[in-house]
Amino acid sequence: MIYIALGASDEIGGSCHYLNIHGTGLLLDSGIDPEEEGLAGIPRLDIIDENSDYWVDHAIITHAHHDHIGAMPVVLQKFPHAIAHMSGATEQLAEILLPASARLQLRKQREGTSTSNPLFYEEELDAYSYLYRSHDLNIPFDVTGVRASVPVRASFYDAGHILGSVGILLEFESGGEEKRYFYTGDTGMRAQTIIPGAEYPDSPIDVLFLESTLGADPESEKTSRRTEENGLAEAVAEVLKRGGTVLLPVFALGRGQEIIALVDRYKKRGLIPEETPVYTAGLMRAISDVYDKTRFSTPRLNPDFEVYGVSQSRLPRSHTATLLALTEPSIHIVGSGMMFERTISNRLAQQLVESDKNGIFMVGYTRPDSPGHRLLEARRAGKGTKAVLDENKGPQSIQCDVDRFRFSGHSHRRDLMEVVKRLNPGRIVLVHGETEARAWMKNNIEYFYPEIDVISPQTGEVVEL
Ligand SMILES: [Zn+2]
Ligand SMILES: [Zn+2]
Repeated sequence: MIYIALGASDEIGGSCHYLNIHGTGLLLDSGIDPEEEGLAGIPRLDIIDENSDYWVDHAIITHAHHDHIGAMPVVLQKFPHAIAHMSGATEQLAEILLPASARLQLRKQREGTSTSNPLFYEEELDAYSYLYRSHDLNIPFDVTGVRASVPVRASFYDAGHILGSVGILLEFESGGEEKRYFYTGDTGMRAQTIIPGAEYPDSPIDVLFLESTLGADPESEKTSRRTEENGLAEAVAEVLKRGGTVLLPVFALGRGQEIIALVDRYKKRGLIPEETPVYTAGLMRAISDVYDKTRFSTPRLNPDFEVYGVSQSRLPRSHTATLLALTEPSIHIVGSGMMFERTISNRLAQQLVESDKNGIFMVGYTRPDSPGHRLLEARRAGKGTKAVLDENKGPQSIQCDVDRFRFSGHSHRRDLMEVVKRLNPGRIVLVHGETEARAWMKNNIEYFYPEIDVISPQTGEVVEL
């Protein structure tokens, strides 16, 4: 058996892993690196293409985040015989997100904000959708390749994290023994507001492909969900009390819906006034619809909860109407989570930062080069510090409250160690983490479980399993 990391290995990048199991060629995830444009962001499919010993029979996708599914059309373009497997909810999300990604790539090229050609066009996507197969949780399906010498079965396990996200169990026979490989995908071991924690298979597992996103983040294990929930409730209540507007920049898929549910909980508990208007916008609204449609067919803490059961208005499209909405005490839950230029959260923030009545609260990770991060750093340096949210606007004096609360959909590293303990694999391949994060995981696994062989492969490195 052969394993090759095709996505970035020393940063989080895009997830994509190649496995050749006795002649069956599999891709686990087909993600795009969100920090790159065009071809620079796609996985190293050329490694498979250029070696006649490698091929792809099936692509198995863990969830609909861009860094796991974004390059799926490119994979289907390059390997026309491949079939793409995913959960039913992921398929529904893909039908919304991939066309949106195609439109965005085209727009960036036309505006001149990107010099790359789009990786795929909206019109092509219909043809690819015939190659999608969706599967229920815990029911094995066949992924044996045409040149395979043994059958290979795959099954999905709930990964927590976001709607539709799964871990992948692969089962096959090798040398007269039954083998079990498990790929965690992105894991959320703890319940969020809508989505419950992951349900992974029992041991034995021979090889575990383990995500390590938060491996270098000691802060996330020091706090608890309850502390963060209470902290955000207080911060929001304070702003509303003094007549200000609250902006909660979110990722459109996952965090957006979880935060709407949380705001609803705050209202029901009387932590913020029941009548406070909530505004949402953009792609997040279409995604919320999928959350609601799948609420009886996917794992939920409370299947009766509907995202659209929470009273919310669409943020008006016109500039003057938006400005009007910002004059009343209200909550705006909009993308992007890192407040990138030309996104709704960035535009709203430009209107809000110069008044000390308002508050902007991050509820997820912000990359150091993002406007969200700059805003946070500036406010930490003191009220009135200047920061640039958009180059056209120039530096602005940051007067409003700005803070960050930790609502990760990922498992922190102690939880990841718990996964290791429970699945007790013979071998671990560390994936989806920066160098420092994977190093922490490797050191700790080797210290506590010296019998487990841990590898942390580089992109393109051929690993014999
Ligand atoms: Zn994810
Ligand atoms: Zn991810």
